[in-house]
Amino acid sequence: NNDYTADVVVIGAGPSGALASALLQQLGWQVKVLEGQHFPRFSIGESLLPQCMHFLAEAGMDKVVDEHAEALAFQFKNGAAFHYRGIDTEIDFTDKFSPGRGTTYQIKRANFDKLLADAAAAKGVDISYGHRVQAIVEQEDGMLLTVSQGEELYQLRSRFVLDASGFGRVLPRLLDLDKPSSLPSRSAYFCHVKDGITASRFDRNKILISVHPEHRDIWYWLIPFADGTASLGVVGEPHHFDTSISNEDNLWAKVKAEPNLADLLADAQAVNPVQTLGGYSADVSSLYGKHYALLGNAGEFLDPVFSSGVTIALKSASLVAPVVDAHLRGEQADFEGEFSTPLKRGVGCFKTFVNAWYDTRFQDVIFYPDQSDEVRRMISAILAGYAWDTNNPYVLQSERRLDVLAQLCLMEPC
Ligand code: FAD
Repeated sequence: NNDYTADVVVIGAGPSGALASALLQQLGWQVKVLEGQHFPRFSIGESLLPQCMHFLAEAGMDKVVDEHAEALAFQFKNGAAFHYRGIDTEIDFTDKFSPGRGTTYQIKRANFDKLLADAAAAKGVDISYGHRVQAIVEQEDGMLLTVSQGEELYQLRSRFVLDASGFGRVLPRLLDLDKPSSLPSRSAYFCHVKDGITASRFDRNKILISVHPEHRDIWYWLIPFADGTASLGVVGEPHHFDTSISNEDNLWAKVKAEPNLADLLADAQAVNPVQTLGGYSADVSSLYGKHYALLGNAGEFLDPVFSSGVTIALKSASLVAPVVDAHLRGEQADFEGEFSTPLKRGVGCFKTFVNAWYDTRFQDVIFYPDQSDEVRRMISAILAGYAWDTNNPYVLQSERRLDVLAQLCLMEPC
């Protein structure tokens, strides 16, 4: 058959689409990316984890990120700080159980995503911006896509499709793969601020996660960038917010309720309107089909609390590329054993920690003052994104280990 436009069509040029397309192009395939928007464009998801730099390295993109970090005001990041009712604690990602890089960046996604997409294009990936996938038909030997460009509609065929459409969830919607997440629906209110923070207690090299003093299921992120601005957000179940007031009032009322954050942000000025997102946790019945696979958020999205989204998205791209390569070469391609199952292993570990954050077991662990160095390093590795390192007992037996640890911490409350 020679009427294919490309061997692989990738829907979306976010992190998972950029990396997957670059990896497949490197393997010699003709890859076309269809991106509905024009870059640079805003996206949420601004704090990276060190593990993701290893996935980027497979396409040489880690170097691209390091080289452009200063010019694009990427903020060096070496850990996470936590605050709850006057208690401060922090996790240093450079002191961790798993081998590998311990530092990364906090990035404005408009710049970061454009950088990765441009790096993929420099490898020969053909990216069409402003081209939105509207419909898809599974065929015997590939996929037929209907694409809109402005008012125009056109069709193209490819042997394989990677859905990297993020919250667009193109294939889950069009192929009826959506499955409700096991996590409850939560909402986030967020904006960028000129933070004006001068307090020396604030470490710009770390994301600051604060817990609401009365409602431990409400938490805040403060993600500083290198240009004096920061991303600020609050997350909670919808009943904690008042939809009859503005997004601005919702965000700032919650900030006011957390004295440490309110104090840090006393001189902050919003630089863009407060946005809100809700019900973002999502799952699918299968991560792959005969001629397609789902990457990043188009597959499963958990929760923003541990900044795992981009890392999981990049891991999915890293895992899928060799399997798609085998499939296109007509070899036995094991999407279950080499893509879906291993991806879900790390996602499952993060999910255990997310659930334990909201039921407060993991908060008890994080704020426990006398944690052993060994345990701290194992936890640090997971929060640094090394959730696929099964040498780490807290990866291998997340639920059991975390439960026992939380009980120990509770015996001597912090
Ligand atoms: P995306 O980055 O979403 O890219 C998808 C692309 O597909 C978009 O450019 C879109 O325009 C395009 N697209 C969509 N539909 C179509 C279509 N029909 N045709 C063509 N193109 C299409 N993650 C972190 O790592 N760190 C964080 O700090 C963090 N904070 C978060 C906070 C909140 C409140 C939320 C909700 C998420 C957060 N995340 C975070 C998660 C992060 O945003 C995502 O996991 C990540 O962006 C997923 O990348 P992706 O490549 O799957 O998709």
